[in-house]
Amino acid sequence: REKLLQVKNLKKYFKVSRKDTLKAVDDVTFDVYKGETFGLVGESGCGKSTTGRTIIRLYEPTEGEVLFDGEEIGGKLSTKAKKNLSRRMQMIFQDPYASLNPRMMVKDIIAEGLDIHHLVKSDKERMDRVYHLLETVGLNREHANRYPHEFSGGQRQRIGIARALAVDPDFIIADEPISALDVSIQAQVVNLLQELQEQQGLTFLFIAHDLSMVKHISDRVGVMYLGNMAELAPSDELYDHPLHPYTQALLSAIPVADPKVERTRERIILQGDVPSPVDPPSGCRFRTRCPFAMEICAKARPKWHEAGKGHWVSCHLHDDGLKK
Ligand code: SF4
Ligand code: MG
Repeated sequence: REKLLQVKNLKKYFKVSRKDTLKAVDDVTFDVYKGETFGLVGESGCGKSTTGRTIIRLYEPTEGEVLFDGEEIGGKLSTKAKKNLSRRMQMIFQDPYASLNPRMMVKDIIAEGLDIHHLVKSDKERMDRVYHLLETVGLNREHANRYPHEFSGGQRQRIGIARALAVDPDFIIADEPISALDVSIQAQVVNLLQELQEQQGLTFLFIAHDLSMVKHISDRVGVMYLGNMAELAPSDELYDHPLHPYTQALLSAIPVADPKVERTRERIILQGDVPSPVDPPSGCRFRTRCPFAMEICAKARPKWHEAGKGHWVSCHLHDDGLKK
């Protein structure tokens, strides 16, 4: 399969005071294939949003590379190439209330990218595109002249999706696009995103904090913990054979919907809280909460490596030589 996005040893640090640095993303490596949905999950503060924002260059990376369609983002690209990249990669944000300018009419919100990238030649063409986009996301042309506050959360997220789609992107980063929505609306928005993916051949990086949510929509899933990638595998493989103790703990906490189905996983209760990314534990970052922590876990950071076909993990339990 063809790689659309390659994230290589990506780091994003923020200086939070004279002495302190927040290591929000600390050496993360993964690929996203063309046409797939890649789910990126983890608790809040694990660095998943920062990863998304650094990929799309809302943040400059501290270190590492991001390649899109084989080309390194940033660096030596011409202004024109950078602009084209910024068209091909779009983002849908978590909070549909905060991410739409309250003083702009819906038509102007949606058409902003069309204007920036000079994608339409006349006002008529511009409005035709806006109407078409509104219909594509399940709204209608009467909505074009209204303001964001006149819409519900779910409708606003549809407007955000229309805005992202306007410039005909290949790749969309959806940062918890349904977390702020009513449960009854969440499935509708997810279905819309899936339909759009099929129709338009989009590739998604879908960021979520809930593993059970991404299972159904993701081809592959990456699990982050405290700025690191703990595990990455095809969705079914990850759910059926999680290798990393953190993934195992997350999965064991998901309630089984059908009480007749016996719980096959032993419940793993994690001790303590997520440590601060300003002063993370040495070695494996998960070791302060890991029920299987060994001496080496404090001393050496486990290598990010492919433990099985397409199944990546960073845990000393699965390192060569330490394998049980
Ligand atoms: Fe637990 Fe050690 Fe594996 Fe980290 S490396 S997850 S502490 S066993
Ligand atoms: Mg976030």
